[in-house]
Amino acid sequence: MTIDTRKILEEFVDYLMPDLSPHEASMYVFLLRHSRLNNDTPSATVRMGQRRIAQLYGRGPKMSVPSRQHMLRQLESLEERGCIKIGDASRDGTLYTVVLPSEVLLVVEKHSLKSEEESDDFYNDPEKRREVYERDQWICQYCRDRVTPENAALDHFVPQCKGGTHKKENLRTACLLCNSIKSGKSYEQAAVHLLKSIQARRERDVQSESWLFFSRVL
Ligand SMILES: [Zn+2]
Repeated sequence: MTIDTRKILEEFVDYLMPDLSPHEASMYVFLLRHSRLNNDTPSATVRMGQRRIAQLYGRGPKMSVPSRQHMLRQLESLEERGCIKIGDASRDGTLYTVVLPSEVLLVVEKHSLKSEEESDDFYNDPEKRREVYERDQWICQYCRDRVTPENAALDHFVPQCKGGTHKKENLRTACLLCNSIKSGKSYEQAAVHLLKSIQARRERDVQSESWLFFSRVL
């Protein structure tokens, strides 16, 4: 059986270590090294006496050998977090079952939250952006102008800086102009600026239409 040490370390550093104290982390890596990452006989378990652990696992304050209580605290807390299971004790030491980082419940939960977030992201995935445009029938939700794939923008109704998400419900189809006015503002903050800009655009349209009309008549 080949062990993907790199993968195990990545999972550990990226997802488990942030939830452990430095002492817990080093105790966990120490047990991992002597069980799952044991070159000769990789195994989920390792049996080891406290004296041996104390000799190998590191130094306490002022470079002293760590006290028994200190080690027990780390071991018990690792067990509480589901990183290891403390088994029976015999003359050869205590049996520790070491859970792989990817199988620790804390890590499993983080992964499932992450994939949930990804599936809710309608902003960064081009296919999903299109879904929002289709929902809004390619119409700017502020000025009601038609937009095209070339000039359509997605506006965060609650802006990202105020905790707005990339979820479908928080995204609105917008034209580039409305999007630039609304950007970073709540609707209440942006409303007056949006209205002014929309009015100015309409007036311009009317002027150019009447100019067209007169130019035809003349
Ligand atoms: Zn618009």
